[in-house]
Amino acid sequence: MGTVVLSIDAELAWGFHDLPNPPDRRIEAARPSWERLLATLEKFSIPATWAIVGHLFLPECDGFHRTHPASPDWFARDPGGKAENHDSWFGPDLVREIQSAETPHEIGCHSFSHVEFGKRETTREIAVAEVEASIKAAASMGVPLHSFVFPRNNVGYRSVLSSYGFTCYRGTRPSWWFDSLPTPRAGKLLDATVVRSAPPLVSPTADEYGLVDLPASLDLFGFEGIARSFVEPAFGDPIVRQAKAGIERAVTEDGVFHLWLHPNNLLDEPDFRRLNRVLSYLAARRKRTSLSVETMRTASERAIDESPIRERTPP
Ligand SMILES: [Zn+2]
Ligand SMILES: [Zn+2]
Repeated sequence: MGTVVLSIDAELAWGFHDLPNPPDRRIEAARPSWERLLATLEKFSIPATWAIVGHLFLPECDGFHRTHPASPDWFARDPGGKAENHDSWFGPDLVREIQSAETPHEIGCHSFSHVEFGKRETTREIAVAEVEASIKAAASMGVPLHSFVFPRNNVGYRSVLSSYGFTCYRGTRPSWWFDSLPTPRAGKLLDATVVRSAPPLVSPTADEYGLVDLPASLDLFGFEGIARSFVEPAFGDPIVRQAKAGIERAVTEDGVFHLWLHPNNLLDEPDFRRLNRVLSYLAARRKRTSLSVETMRTASERAIDESPIRERTPP
């Protein structure tokens, strides 16, 4: 029997601040969609790991962050000022909504200012600054951080995470059959329409720093644009089918089915419909089987507790 984990990359405007043309619509949707996503999770009592950009915990800032090694250029779009006046750049109110939800969510980390840890330009000093600033900002709201989601899934400086007490991160999705094709996008389309394979379950594994890698299985919005508008009317929503297939795998097999999304992926009613269909299916299967739904933290801790290596270690 397996487990389903849902992780959320929660970033508001920080997810796009380094792009030459940030997508206004996604940034505008990010806050209302965050609240609607939280309400939908509440409706089905599904706990998630909210990996939140550290800057969103702040009540205010100077807009420069001069002690940060990437300052001042990296913070050029940071408006500074008070949280209530810049609600795309701050979110302590949104953090409080998660904290006061009835469903026990985990609050994790998505770096402080959406730095890609695996990028060549990212120095160790920057990674340390991102981690330290995140821990400090989260602690100011009483939030201890355990799980990390790398911005743009660009994995790097895992040793820094480990030395600052993180225990778990979301690694990259294992390869699917179409990834090795010369044209993976065509293969993905073929899978959505004809092959209709089930996405992979993953196994949490401890890395050389003692961090647990809990890889992604399925991006709930990894099939968008023209491909989605072509496939969905004729074949149904391919992501709903894949999510259901992954959930069924987790009902019958050991392993973790790890779904993820951004609140800013939820733009239009068909997006919320997809979310509702996946979460209602998950809630129904959890009720009728012994399938569990866990946060990244609890799933990774359990995996380590149950590992044969740990069992052999004397108390
Ligand atoms: Zn700031
Ligand atoms: Zn992100």
